[in-house]
Amino acid sequence: MTDLIPTPAQARVPVRGGGTFPVRRIYCVGRNFADHAREMGAAAPASKAERGQPVFFLKPADAVVTGNGDIPYPPGTQDLHHEVELVVALGQDAPAGVLAPEDATSLVFAYGVGLDLTRRDLQAAAKAKGLPWDIGKGFDHSAPVSELVPAAQVSGLASRSLALQVNGDTRQHGSLRDLIWDGPDILHELSKLFALKAGDLIFMGTPAGVGPLLPGDSFVASLEGVVELHGRITAA
Ligand code: MN
Repeated sequence: MTDLIPTPAQARVPVRGGGTFPVRRIYCVGRNFADHAREMGAAAPASKAERGQPVFFLKPADAVVTGNGDIPYPPGTQDLHHEVELVVALGQDAPAGVLAPEDATSLVFAYGVGLDLTRRDLQAAAKAKGLPWDIGKGFDHSAPVSELVPAAQVSGLASRSLALQVNGDTRQHGSLRDLIWDGPDILHELSKLFALKAGDLIFMGTPAGVGPLLPGDSFVASLEGVVELHGRITAA
C-alpha cells in the first residue's frame, strides 16, 4: 500500500561515537525527587515503603530537540519552566509481562540529559481542574535532549548529579541518589502499564529549583561527568 500523505519525519537523537537513536515514545516521571514534589505543593513520601505509585505522563516523540538547537518560546503560555532530568534510552524490547527491576538495566542502551520543558501556567490550570497535563507538557520542542552516551561508557550513575545553569547561574542541582524511583524501579513500574520497546526514552524527573525561561536565555544542562546539553530560548 502506498502512503497517501508525506511520511512524517522520524525523530532521532545522536549517539556519542556515531549513529543515531530513533525515538519511539517519550515517557516522563513526575514527582521523582522529594524536594521538587514539595516545591510543587505535593506530598513527598517519607520512605521508600510509602512512595505509592509513580506519576507518569508522555510527550510525543517529535518533541525532541537535538544538536544543542535553539528552542522557540512556545505559544499559549506566559510561564515556560525548565526541569533538568536524567534521560534513559532503551535499546531492546522488554519481554512480555512485568519486567523485574533486576532485569531492567540490560534493556538500557544509553543515558543522556534533557529538559522536560513545561508550560507551568497551563499545567497548573489543568491540575486545578483535574484535567490531563498534555497541553502543559507535550508541546512542540518540549523535550530538548543531549547526545546519548552508551550505557557501557557511563560508570557510577547512581551517585552522579544533575545540574542546570541559566545565563551562567545555577538554577537546579541534585544527586541521582535522591531519586524516589531509580531507573530499574521506573522500568518495572512502566512495564505494568505499557509494552516497553527499543526507541523509548524515559525522562526520569527533576530535582528542586524549577523556574522560568525567557526568550534570550541560554542554558547548560549537565549529567555531571557524562554529558551536557546546551541551548537557547528564542523569540516565538
Ligand atoms: Mn519533569
